[in-house]
Amino acid sequence: MEKKQIAIIGAGIAGLIACKYCISKGFNPIVFEFESRIGGVWAKTLKETRLQIPKTMYQFSDYPWPASVTDDTPTQQEMIDYIHSYAKHFQLLPHINFCSKVKSISYDGPSSDSWVLWNGTGEPFPPQGMWNITVENTKTATTQVYTVDFLILCIGRNKDVPNLPKFPQGKGLDVFQGKAIHSSEYSALDNDAAEQLIKGKKVVVVGLGKSGLDIARSCAEINAQGMVLILILDESGPEHPCTVVYRHDHWKLGDWYPMGIPLINLIFGRFPVLGVHKPEQGFLLSLVATLLSPVRWTLLKLLESHTKMTLPLAKYNMVPEQGLGEDMASGLVMHVPDPDDFFDALKKGSIKLKKTPTYNMYEKGFSIVEQEEKTRIEADIAIFSTGFNGVEKVKDIFESPKFGHFISDSPRVGLYRECIHPRIPQLGILGFSDGLSSLYTSEMRCKWLAAVLEGSVKLPNINEMQKNIKEWDEYMKQASGHNHYRSFLGSIEIWYSDVVCKDMGVNPMRKKGLFANMFEAYGPSDYADI
Ligand SMILES: Cc1cc2nc3c(=O)[nH]c(=O)nc-3n(C[C@H](O)[C@H](O)[C@H](O)COP(=O)(O)OP(=O)(O)OC[C@H]3O[C@@H](n4cnc5c(N)ncnc54)[C@H](O)[C@@H]3O)c2cc1C
Repeated sequence: MEKKQIAIIGAGIAGLIACKYCISKGFNPIVFEFESRIGGVWAKTLKETRLQIPKTMYQFSDYPWPASVTDDTPTQQEMIDYIHSYAKHFQLLPHINFCSKVKSISYDGPSSDSWVLWNGTGEPFPPQGMWNITVENTKTATTQVYTVDFLILCIGRNKDVPNLPKFPQGKGLDVFQGKAIHSSEYSALDNDAAEQLIKGKKVVVVGLGKSGLDIARSCAEINAQGMVLILILDESGPEHPCTVVYRHDHWKLGDWYPMGIPLINLIFGRFPVLGVHKPEQGFLLSLVATLLSPVRWTLLKLLESHTKMTLPLAKYNMVPEQGLGEDMASGLVMHVPDPDDFFDALKKGSIKLKKTPTYNMYEKGFSIVEQEEKTRIEADIAIFSTGFNGVEKVKDIFESPKFGHFISDSPRVGLYRECIHPRIPQLGILGFSDGLSSLYTSEMRCKWLAAVLEGSVKLPNINEMQKNIKEWDEYMKQASGHNHYRSFLGSIEIWYSDVVCKDMGVNPMRKKGLFANMFEAYGPSDYADI
């Protein structure tokens, strides 16, 4: 049979994985990458950035980290080297067209409105229907249209379209006289440029997520250089602390081995996940979940107590209102690398935290509400670490507003098996549904998608797929409470893997022996041979 043409948009982690699996199934994929390099978000970020989770969870299933990387949470440079070595090992680079910005994609084929089966036939490659991809070569400023049989979108969620807060007229960026940038602009600076921008300035970082924390540390470090003597003389702290304005606290973890036990085993293993009500679990597992949920609850409470004992969260008014379970289910738990340094910076005052239910801007900075009192914080520079609008990015790439509507018609991108939209033909999406480790989740989703492409996984009809998406949606809504705005399966990643293994006809129990399968941590390497 003539091999079909597959195109992949993006050469970040997800795009590289998609490319590797398409090649392994005998396809000859073409990858379009806007930048001149691979790696996506990892290619350019702050030097302080490290992997947040232990590296055994963030590794390609069949390509482990080299022995030379000894730290549990590698640095950005180590990450880049690892990604490059993966691309070289699996000979992915010849498939990638760099400096190739996909301007739009349009489907040329029958309407999906009346279909009972995905693509009309339930097969990945129906007799009719192609995607036209309009690609601009940013080096030559020329545009070319490519026609392919199947398209995999790997354009990332944490890049390109900044999510900026909306302020009332006259109380936002329109009146602020300082400089305002998004965290991505700061991360793109080299060290000298960052120092030039920040040195001697009053900096306010908005948002205390992972990048907010990294940026606050970076700014505090720049303005603390040469301050040791002054600090000894003056107890009030540095002249230019970095102030972080944020709304909610989320759980912060100081280490991945609470009480000496790997957290991955304690919360994310198959046994603890038995205590969670999961989609597609059936009557028996639902009963087990009810019986074991008190065990899981107790584990989570123990972990909360351990965290409060080991990190001074209470001292800095950083204990979250919601439980750890809710933050874990929505992917908002954050690991603080070198927590002693971070809390030391709070103690010295080089980082100041300002929690406020609401904030606005004025000419010279921010108006906030602190302990029910209105107050103002001056800023020369405001850095918005308020995330990205990844859904808009996917939505906008479709020429057809109909497909764009399918994508945005939910607080999250609702996809079957987190990969395909039942009414968007011949297209897969990777990198939008997240987990504890996005590399691991993208690879598991890609293994499943590759099996669909080779025809070894047969899909249910559109109606059943839609019902299934709803069921997984209900789980996410219930588990993540107020924070149900994106697809995140962190707490039940092992269950998702079990489900897709069953789809692919492989045994989900990847380890030897009941004890290992129940209590040991599962990670990417357990699925190396799929
Ligand atoms: C600083 C930082 C630290 C992180 N740390 C962790 C961590 O510890 N653990 C974790 O699990 N996750 C972490 N993440 C999340 C991270 O986003 C994922 O781990 C992963 O790297 C995302 O890969 P991706 O391929 O899905 O997206 P991206 O890395 O965003 O790659 C998408 C690629 O698509 C390209 N592209 C986009 N649009 C187009 C277009 N129109 N045409 C052509 N090309 C296009 C982009 O240029 C980019 O190269 C971190 C993210 C950041 C920013």
